Amino acid sequence: MVRYVIPELQVQALPVIGTDELFPVRRVYCIGRNYAAHAVEMGHNPDKEAPFFFQKNPDNLNPSSEFPYPPKSNDVHHEAEMLVALKSGGTNISQEVAMSHVYGYALCLDMTRRDRQGEMKKAGRPWEIGKAFEHSAPCGPIHRASEVGHPNEGELTLRVNGELRQEGNLNQMIWKVPEMIAYLSAYYELAAGDVILSGTPSGVQAVERGDVMLLNLNLLGSLEVTVT
Ligand code: MN
Repeated sequence: MVRYVIPELQVQALPVIGTDELFPVRRVYCIGRNYAAHAVEMGHNPDKEAPFFFQKNPDNLNPSSEFPYPPKSNDVHHEAEMLVALKSGGTNISQEVAMSHVYGYALCLDMTRRDRQGEMKKAGRPWEIGKAFEHSAPCGPIHRASEVGHPNEGELTLRVNGELRQEGNLNQMIWKVPEMIAYLSAYYELAAGDVILSGTPSGVQAVERGDVMLLNLNLLGSLEVTVT
């Protein structure tokens, strides 16, 4: 039996709806500016150019109904997204077979310290401090593709305290799921347990403690998260 010199680490895992089993998470890839209207609101050109990705840490995934407001920021934004969970992977995966690697989908929030991210962008530095912090990706349970299919359209909405903040349709994604998988697999070896956050529609805004965020996508139900 393997013995570790520090306490054994826990693998982060997400519940799978309709089962009592968990989906273990290996890596978290996140695409930036994948909806034209969001690229524009962030001050960028919405034309299709090479995609770019950043990463969060697996233990930043937060399968709870609470998002603790993080330290060192006064401008924390919500980004409503769909999470894609992979059951297998590889390198140089073609778009044609990419979807065969998808296990399922979940609702997810890419919470962002926008003030810190903005400073890092301006300085030409990495974004992690703005993105990859504790509890920064509240997410719902995974819905198996074998049950819900592969959603490539559907209204994704985010309400805060009942007020509509974000509204977009999956069919507006600049880079579709098979394109993201193919692109990532040219740079990384994808594997079972990897997840991809597929980008946010426009309408990102700051949250305050006490706010209740309600994310909805018909096929995947809804996710309610309170800022604490
Ligand atoms: Mn995002």
